[in-house]
Amino acid sequence: MEIISEANEENMIVMDDVFVEYSNGTVALKECNVCVEKGEFLFVVGRSGSGKSTFIKTLLGEVKPISGDVIVGGIKINKLRRKRLPYYRRRVGVVFQEFRLLNDRNVYENVALAQRVIGASERFMEKRIRNMLKLVGLENKINSFPGELSGGEQQRVAIARAMVNKPAILLADEPTGNLDPENSWEIMNLLNEVNKLGTTVLVVTHNNEIVDRMKKRVITLHDGKIVSDVKQGGYLQ
Ligand code: ADP
Repeated sequence: MEIISEANEENMIVMDDVFVEYSNGTVALKECNVCVEKGEFLFVVGRSGSGKSTFIKTLLGEVKPISGDVIVGGIKINKLRRKRLPYYRRRVGVVFQEFRLLNDRNVYENVALAQRVIGASERFMEKRIRNMLKLVGLENKINSFPGELSGGEQQRVAIARAMVNKPAILLADEPTGNLDPENSWEIMNLLNEVNKLGTTVLVVTHNNEIVDRMKKRVITLHDGKIVSDVKQGGYLQ
């Protein structure tokens, strides 16, 4: 993998004049310039169609910009060869609105799958998984299946799965979109804890109450453009 430089490693995410255009000609991101330091917590907000999902997909290397550079943890994603992408993605934790758990596997197995792909030993894995489930407050649900858990609990399993390989960055795409207010706050508090442990956390959300109350950095997208980037911001200022 191309590591840019040690100095750049302090910047967890750099987008340098990024343009993304889909094959039908839709420009989903334009003139995007972002710099996120290691250990930051930030929200990305914007109306439907403003480019939020494209923003996350670009960081995951699922969508390639037509111009500009995307550098995550010192790795220039837009220059990464296709076969290197899966290795890169294992270094990034991702959480989705719809949890994406395997319903025929229990909690332990759902978290273990993320470890199996990196070839961890069973003994090492079990310790890690138990620690992660403790972190998300679900050690007593280790043998439960997703269908036996509440939405908030399922999202906590998804966070444990995303964090079990200790990624430096966690990307969350509408993580509270399917949850009631109480569970939404639990998930946000958990993401805050994860951030306090040193992980850079980026959350795409529509939840204006959460954004307004958390007083974190807020990047607002409109028609694919960053229209504001505020240190302790609120929703759609
Ligand atoms: P958001 O997540 O904020 O709703 P998206 O990133 O999904 O926004 O979409 C940004 C723009 O790109 C919208 O105009 C959307 O219609 C368009 N778009 C998204 N995905 C595709 C795609 N695969 N092909 C063509 N256009 C797309």
